[in-house]
Amino acid sequence: MNAIRQISTRRLSRFVQKSILPTPSETIITFGFDDCPLSVVETALPMLEAEDWRATIYVACGLCETTNHLGLHMSLDDVVEVHKRGHEIADHTFSHLNAMGVDAETYMADINLNLQTLRALGLPPTRHFAYPYGEVSPSIKKALRNRFETLRGVISPNNQTQDANLLNAVRLYDDKTIESALMHIETANNTPQWLHFFTHDVRENPSEYGCTPENFQRVVEAVKASGLKVMTVDQAYRHIEEEGSHL
Ligand SMILES: [Zn+2]
Repeated sequence: MNAIRQISTRRLSRFVQKSILPTPSETIITFGFDDCPLSVVETALPMLEAEDWRATIYVACGLCETTNHLGLHMSLDDVVEVHKRGHEIADHTFSHLNAMGVDAETYMADINLNLQTLRALGLPPTRHFAYPYGEVSPSIKKALRNRFETLRGVISPNNQTQDANLLNAVRLYDDKTIESALMHIETANNTPQWLHFFTHDVRENPSEYGCTPENFQRVVEAVKASGLKVMTVDQAYRHIEEEGSHL
């Protein structure tokens, strides 16, 4: 697929196969970690646990125990351990597949392999998915919408609505994104919404897709000071659906 076509496919994906969620009566904050680097288990999750909060980890099992620009990734045993600590394990394909350039069938087969691997570990079936690289095509969005309750992208929200088939997410990467995240928390204080933060590695000298422990802690402190509710993605989704059914 050429670059121009790829950009238009990505843009188009935002406007088709939508499933707009009701706006919650009070802001809900969720934390997502993608892939998932061991530094998250060792550094970021304990910061959330200290506040009695739990996160959603979008695991691509094929990355387990490998090392890349995000550092060493957690093992399958770590995935089980993280689940036992109360965090939610969600899907992110097995091979960390890019939706651009593969057909829906290949993409689904890779997802099924990840789901089978998670099931073999004794984990409950997940209802939530994040697109690797945030890449999605209209056909894949359509194929996945009946398979999962939420499908998460990497685009920052510009209003309070959330499309369950392409959830907005606020990056926790470099200093600039952290400042933006703090502004999102301030806005969310007055405007009810589902605000989802996500990152990758959390360590000193992080990759460009991760953040430092100090910056992560700044976000934790801001959320704590706001008094806003923190949930896992599945809890947030169920809460919003439940509220919506009473409207
Ligand atoms: Zn990823």
